[in-house]
Amino acid sequence: MHRTLRPFELLEPESVQEAVQILASAPPGAKILAGGLDLVSRMTRWQVDPPCLISLQRIPAMDFLDVGENGYLRIGPMTTLRSLELSALVRERWPLLQEAAHQIASVQVKTMGTLVGNLCVATPASDMAPVLFVLAAQLGLVGPAGSATIPIEDFFVPVCQSILEPQQIVVEVSVPPMPARAGTAFKKLAHTKACIAKVNAAVLVTVEDGLCRDARIALGAVAPTVVRAHKAEQALQGKPITRQLACEAANLAAAEVTPISDLRASAEYRKHVAAVLTQRAILAAAECALAPDTAAAWHALAADPPTPAGVAGRTCGAGSQAGPA
Ligand SMILES: Cc1cc2nc3c(=O)[nH]c(=O)nc-3n(C[C@H](O)[C@H](O)[C@H](O)COP(=O)(O)OP(=O)(O)OC[C@H]3O[C@@H](n4cnc5c(N)ncnc54)[C@H](O)[C@@H]3O)c2cc1C
Repeated sequence: MHRTLRPFELLEPESVQEAVQILASAPPGAKILAGGLDLVSRMTRWQVDPPCLISLQRIPAMDFLDVGENGYLRIGPMTTLRSLELSALVRERWPLLQEAAHQIASVQVKTMGTLVGNLCVATPASDMAPVLFVLAAQLGLVGPAGSATIPIEDFFVPVCQSILEPQQIVVEVSVPPMPARAGTAFKKLAHTKACIAKVNAAVLVTVEDGLCRDARIALGAVAPTVVRAHKAEQALQGKPITRQLACEAANLAAAEVTPISDLRASAEYRKHVAAVLTQRAILAAAECALAPDTAAAWHALAADPPTPAGVAGRTCGAGSQAGPA
């Protein structure tokens, strides 16, 4: 149901320091405003009622997307999902970010919505959070007590919460350089492209001498917060990534998630899809990681795939956005 916005004060600081000072003295419930996509729509539905919004819009240089001296990708708090999707730098050096941003709803959503806003909403169905988990991203925070940098894995708290204090602001997302010989993939199942995920999965694997040296797997929308599938990761370590192994690891990942049933999907279906998407993402990431001369061998290996347990026949039947394995 659409309602009118309740009255609120809009403040527009011109520096991060001023924004922190305003937040520190603002009445309880004051909120940072970035793109406003989530916040304003919840205000129109009277789900939140902030007395005051502190916009980041007038603060200079909050919309950045560049590489720092340490080689990390730096993403500003006002950098939109669309900027990530269109960036040649991101496509070339952190293609997983581009792949996930590309699968978010619509151009309109991505043009308004910021990456940091997407994370601060803290929904377990975020497409960007699992991707940033496997890329080992960090968040830069600023508050009255000073600044801090935390791994993204420490940011989320069940359910739909983060460790962000009411007076803290996220000022940067930083992403380390991709490891050598690494490949990545993101798979998502949603009802339509305009919808948030029923399940998503992000994978990074490092392959050396034909063996998996490192694996990072994260799944979204299958638990109160993003899940790192540690047992599945361990199952891949030190072995050649065959379809059989990817299938076994995918089944372990599905065993590690604790989805709920809701309007979008049943818990049972989500577990099933978690296995399917994880298998596909592992294989796609492995293919990316392989050098051109070994890619042909991998394709031969992939010719006769087993399927995750309980996935009869249509291994790839998880929906339009999940894409081919
Ligand atoms: C129709 C629709 C479809 C969508 N589809 C998808 C999808 O497919 N996949 C997906 O992952 N997401 C999806 N989303 C979610 C969307 O990505 C987020 O709503 C959006 O990115 C939020 O960013 P924003 O800049 O608009 O945040 P805002 O609405 O401005 O803020 C959101 C929250 O974050 C806080 N916040 C924002 N910036 C900061 C900061 N720097 N420091 C501290 N707190 C901050 C705000 O106070 C607020 O609580 C969809 C949303 C809509 C409306």
